[in-house]
Amino acid sequence: MKIQERELRRDRLDGRWVIFAPERGRRPYEFHPADRVAPSSVGACPFCPGHEGRTPPEIFALRAGHSRADGPGWRVRVVPNKFGALGAGRTFRRRTSGLIEFGAGTGVHEVIIDTPEHRREWPDLPITQVRDVLAVWRSRLAALETDAAVRFIQLFKNKGREAGASLSHAHTQVIGMPVVPADVARETARAGQERRKTGACPYCRWIASEKALGKRLVAFDSHFIAFAPFASRFPYETRLFPTRHSAAFSGTRDEELASLAKIIRTVLAALRRVACDPPYNIVLRQASVAVRKGDARSAHWSLEILPILTHIAGFELGTGMYINHVFPEQAAEDLRK
Ligand SMILES: [Zn+2]
Ligand SMILES: [Zn+2]
Repeated sequence: MKIQERELRRDRLDGRWVIFAPERGRRPYEFHPADRVAPSSVGACPFCPGHEGRTPPEIFALRAGHSRADGPGWRVRVVPNKFGALGAGRTFRRRTSGLIEFGAGTGVHEVIIDTPEHRREWPDLPITQVRDVLAVWRSRLAALETDAAVRFIQLFKNKGREAGASLSHAHTQVIGMPVVPADVARETARAGQERRKTGACPYCRWIASEKALGKRLVAFDSHFIAFAPFASRFPYETRLFPTRHSAAFSGTRDEELASLAKIIRTVLAALRRVACDPPYNIVLRQASVAVRKGDARSAHWSLEILPILTHIAGFELGTGMYINHVFPEQAAEDLRK
């Protein structure tokens, strides 16, 4: 059977885009359905050193001076996703017909391999290694922002089978796409309204009020703040903001990277302690490329650290609402201990 080309589609009443990527069905899947914990088979892992030939050729790597591209010797390695949700080679032209809208599934899907070590997770990595990964996040985000076909970039990390990871070796993914997600566009519009009302970035105000209040704080230093949001959707959900007004992760300064590495590790280590090493997602939240390059006064990037301790089920799917059994004030207190 012929595999169909990727396509982006949406029903205009609903407004949400869906990516159709039939090739994703052919991904290798390392986890046995019955396993709670990922089996660690270095032998089969395409992300381990020595197996560079099992991924497409690298786009970028931090590696020892004498080592060669697509060979061992790297600390962080970036490759195209072999089974990308979106792919290059075609031009996105949005077409509308009545209530439907669609276009070719064009874009970029990259994998950042966080460490050469198969079994190490972020809380176990040296701060310098986490900082290196964050520096690579920054440089890939900056590179994709210069691609005229990319209107929105989503960076995320899935740790554990329940968080959507198909391979256990620590990695991050970046998807650059030709459309802006409906939820992001809505939040941008609301943030703009708030700024016009008060004259200030609403996120900067939010950060100041959480810092003053204190009871939902998880960790902070001179550059970053992590707190449990007032309306957390998930138990032990944490939101992490730069305290300086900053629209894009790509604008993070060198001296801020080590601080960010430390605070992320602090939150992950606390989660490991409080919630028995749960699977989790780390999600970058930022506005579209155009908004950040245009009027960035109400765009302020952040990261969400979302442990998977509950299921998204019928209620959430039907309503877009969530049921959380841990108040954020309690979550913050537990995570601070
Ligand atoms: Zn591996
Ligand atoms: Zn701000």
